[in-house]
Amino acid sequence: MSSNPLVVANWKMNLSLAESRKLVVKLKSGLKNSAGCQIILCPSTNALTVMAGQIESTKSKPKFKLGAQNSAMSERGALTGEDSPFDIKKLGCSYVILGHSERRGKLGETDNIVNKKVKAALEAQLIPIVCVGESWEDRQNGNTDNHLIKQVTLALKNIKLARQKLIVAYEPVWAISTAGANARAVQPIEAVTAHQVINETLVDIFGEQVVEKNLKIIYGGSVNSENVRGFTGHSEIQGVLVGGASLDSKEFIQLVKNV
Ligand code: PEP
Repeated sequence: MSSNPLVVANWKMNLSLAESRKLVVKLKSGLKNSAGCQIILCPSTNALTVMAGQIESTKSKPKFKLGAQNSAMSERGALTGEDSPFDIKKLGCSYVILGHSERRGKLGETDNIVNKKVKAALEAQLIPIVCVGESWEDRQNGNTDNHLIKQVTLALKNIKLARQKLIVAYEPVWAISTAGANARAVQPIEAVTAHQVINETLVDIFGEQVVEKNLKIIYGGSVNSENVRGFTGHSEIQGVLVGGASLDSKEFIQLVKNV
């Protein structure tokens, strides 16, 4: 995978279609001269078509890529309200966020469902961004490493990667800016340790060469323009997943510049 750091903007369900359009226009103009990062914008599904058109027309660097925030666990079927990864791909997406803690925690998405979704996304030639991360309770009980190993192993069960790419996002559930009382970014060095655990797990599953060539591990959780460099300054952290700070054009432009 390219060595450029990834910056993934997860807009969640926060913006209307008109607001998404306005934000992408500002980002295109504010970031037209900055190269070096791969920026992946993940709007809500309703904005994907419009965003694809906007991104297509970006001639100068950096080139934006488009990601979805979810896709279904099969190509077709009786899955009311879900979107086929094959349709997401046709809308112009290259990436899809899967297993986000908000989907696991608020919508009951299990490891098994995440695993099926990852398989379906890979079949559709999407690059999955698979989110894993411990709860505050796991952390307090010294259970972070075990939890990460289990989540990564189950999400990637029976998956073989030949040429396909995959990203794992380490997102401690409690560190997400909207998660409540303990919400704050982890110390970069703590993220490095977690990334090493995830990396070793990935090497056990896929082997060193595949991990080196096809996988990246990124950090998410209360990243902003001021703390981003603390994370991306470490070679183990190959990018960031950004929620709240990606909704404000000035803050996000500064964040990308600081990477
Ligand atoms: C997220 O929910 O994926 C996230 C990283 O959110 P925030 O940056 O707001 O903590």
